[in-house]
Amino acid sequence: MTETLVKGVYKVGEEIEDTKAPKDVPLSQVWQERKNHVNLVNPANRRKLNIIVVGSGLAGGAAAASLGEQGYNVQCFFYQDSARRAHSIAAQGGINAAKDYRNDDDSVYRLFYDTVKGGDYRARETNVYRLAEVSTNIIDQCVAQGVPFARDYGGYLDNRSFGGVQVSRTFYARGQTGQQLLIGAYQALERQVAAGTVKEFPRHEMVELIVSEGRARGIVARNMVTGELETYIADAVVLATGGYGNVFFLSTNAMGCNATAIWRAYRKGAYFANPCFTQIHPTCIPQHGDQQSKLTLMSESLRNDGRIWVPKKVEDCAKDPREIPEEDRDYYLERIYPAFGNLVPRDIASRQAKNMCDEGRGVGPEVDGVRRGVYLDFAEAIGRLGKKAVSDKYGNLFDMYERITGDNPYEVPMRIYPAVHYTMGGMWVDYDLESNLPGLYIGGEANFSDHGANRLGASALMQGLADGYFVLPATMSNYLSQAFSFPKLDENSPDVVAAREAAQSQIDRLMSINGTRSVDSFHKELGNIMWEYCGMERTEEGLLKAIGLIRKLREDYWQNVKVPGKTVGGLNQSLERAGRVADFMELAELMCIDALHREESAGGHFRAESQTEEGEALRQDDRFAYVGAWEWGGSADAAPILHKEPLVYKNIELKQRSYK
Ligand SMILES: Cc1cc2nc3c(=O)[nH]c(=O)nc-3n(C[C@H](O)[C@H](O)[C@H](O)COP(=O)(O)OP(=O)(O)OC[C@H]3O[C@@H](n4cnc5c(N)ncnc54)[C@H](O)[C@@H]3O)c2cc1C
Repeated sequence: MTETLVKGVYKVGEEIEDTKAPKDVPLSQVWQERKNHVNLVNPANRRKLNIIVVGSGLAGGAAAASLGEQGYNVQCFFYQDSARRAHSIAAQGGINAAKDYRNDDDSVYRLFYDTVKGGDYRARETNVYRLAEVSTNIIDQCVAQGVPFARDYGGYLDNRSFGGVQVSRTFYARGQTGQQLLIGAYQALERQVAAGTVKEFPRHEMVELIVSEGRARGIVARNMVTGELETYIADAVVLATGGYGNVFFLSTNAMGCNATAIWRAYRKGAYFANPCFTQIHPTCIPQHGDQQSKLTLMSESLRNDGRIWVPKKVEDCAKDPREIPEEDRDYYLERIYPAFGNLVPRDIASRQAKNMCDEGRGVGPEVDGVRRGVYLDFAEAIGRLGKKAVSDKYGNLFDMYERITGDNPYEVPMRIYPAVHYTMGGMWVDYDLESNLPGLYIGGEANFSDHGANRLGASALMQGLADGYFVLPATMSNYLSQAFSFPKLDENSPDVVAAREAAQSQIDRLMSINGTRSVDSFHKELGNIMWEYCGMERTEEGLLKAIGLIRKLREDYWQNVKVPGKTVGGLNQSLERAGRVADFMELAELMCIDALHREESAGGHFRAESQTEEGEALRQDDRFAYVGAWEWGGSADAAPILHKEPLVYKNIELKQRSYK
C-alpha cells in the first residue's frame, strides 16, 4: 500500500481479483463449470451447520428459504414485524427475464449485453452473464409458486418493455410486481419455518458483525422490542439488507432502509465497492415542499405508453398543459434519442429532465425559483388504446398519483422529476457472492455485483431472486464444507464479547450526548449536502466541499444530537434512527471520496469535467475500467484504502454508449 494520501483523502492499496469464476472456459459455461466443482456438504451434515441470513426481502427471503430447503439450519433476521414487509414489497414495474416469449429475438446474450452496456461497462462479465442465464429459471420458479404474473388474452405470460432495451422482456403483476414476488418468497420461507429449518427473528436489527480468526461467525442484533443486545453465532453469514439510498434523506426507498448492516461489516474489514454509483430515477412525483420526508416513484413501466415533454417556450411553463398546442411541445427524449425515445435508460432520462429544468423549461410550482418537473402524458395512449386498456395496465399507479397530487392523470399529464432510487454500489463480492471476509456472503441490492454504474429497470428483482434462489444455495457449500474444522465459539469467546461491547458502547455514547438537535434534522442536512454535491452532477470542487461539510456535520452530531427515551425496556425509534444516521454520515463521506477519485463519468455517476460535446457521460476506460473496492482505514477519521479490481471484457466490445 502507498502511504501517500491521494487528493488529501484516500490511500491506494493492492489490486484485487475474483478468484472463483473459472477462467479458461467460454462465458456460457462458466456457471456450470463453477457448479461442477464447488465442494458439497453431505445432506445429513447440513442440519448441523448454522447460517444467519440478515434480510427477508426478495434476496434474503429467497436465500433463507432455499438454504432451509437444502437442510441447513437457518436463522433469518429482519427489522420489520413480518418478513412480508421488506422493502421489496414496494417494487412496482416488473422483473426481466430472457424468455423471448414475444418472439423478438431476445436471448441470454442480449440480456447480458444490454445489462453490461446499460451499466456503462463497469460490471463484471461473468456475473452478469450468469444473471441473464438464471433469469429464465426465476420466472419458472415464481410461476410454480403461484405468482400471478399478468397474462395476455391467450393465457400466456405477458411482457412489456423497460428502458435501455429494444425487446419486451419484463414480466409484471400490474404495478405490484415486488409485492407478488415477495408473497411467493414468503410462502417458501414460511414452509421452511413450519418444517423447522428456518427460524425467524422479526424486529431484530443487526448492529455488529462477529468476526473471529478472520471469518464471519455471527452477528450482534438489537431486539427492537426489549432493547436488549443479543448475540448469534453461526458458520456463515449472509447479508441481504438492501440499498443505502436513504443516505440522501429523500428517496423512493422505504423510510426504514438503511446501511447499518453493511456498514458495520465494512468496519470489520469487508470491502465496499463503487459506493458512489447511485441511481436517480427519472419518473418520481416532484418534491412539493421542505417538510417532506419521502418521495414516491411512478413506475418506469409508465414510459412504455406515456410521452415525456416540456414546453418549447419558457413563457408557456406556467400554463395548463392542455392548452399548449402540439407544435409548442418538446418531446425531448424522442427528439434527442430517436432509436430509444422515451425508453432510454434511467441515467440518461434523469439527466435530460434536469437539463430541461436548468434551461428554465420545467413545469409545476417553483421551488427556490426553479420549476422542477416535466410532463408524462398519456393523452396519446388513451386515444390509441382507450381509457380501459390504459387503466388495466397502470390503474393502480394512476390512483396512487391522484391520491398524492390531487390531479387526475387520465385528464391532465402527470408531473415527474428524478429522485434517488437505487444504489448500484455495495459490498464487494466475488463470483460466489462471498466478500473478502471468508464466510460473509452478500446478496441483492446490498452487494455491488451486477449493475455497473447504472441499473436497467426491472433488473433488481431479477438479481435479488437470482442471488437468493439460485446463486447462494449453489456456492455456499464450497465454504461450509470446511466448517466442521472451525473453532467452537460461544457467548463468552473474546471476539463475541468484543463485538457485543462495541455495539453497546455506540448505543451508550449516543444516549449520553443529550444535545439539542433531533436525529432527523442531522439526517436532512446530510441529505441536502449529498443531493447538492454528490447527486445528479458531481465536480471535484463540489465533492471536496461536501467532504468538509460532512466531517463538520459528523463532529456536530456526536456533540449535539438528542436521543430521547430508554436504551432497554421498550421501543426506542429515535435510538434506532440515531445508529443508522451515524453510519450514513460515515458512508456519505466514503461515497464522496469514491466520486472524487473516479474522474470519469459512467452511468449514474456524472462528473461535469468528463462529458462529450453533446453533454453525455464520457467514460475513461484507459483509467477507470475497474471496480473501486474500499477498505476501512481503521477509524472514521482515517483515510480509506482503494483496491482496484480491473474489469476485463472478452465478450463485449467497450463502446461509447449511444441510444440515438
Ligand atoms: C419504489 C420502488 C420501486 C421499485 N420497483 C422495482 C421494479 O419494478 N423492478 C425492479 O427490478 N426493481 C425495483 N425496485 C428496486 C427493488 O425493489 C430493490 O432493489 C429490491 O427489492 C431490494 O431487495 P433486497 O432483498 O436486496 O432488499 P430489501 O427488500 O430492501 O430487504 C432488506 C431486508 O433486510 C432487512 N434489514 C436491513 N438492515 C437490517 C439490519 N441491520 N438488521 C436486520 N435486518 C435488516 C430488512 O428488514 C429487510 O428484510 C424498486 C425500488 C423502489 C424503491
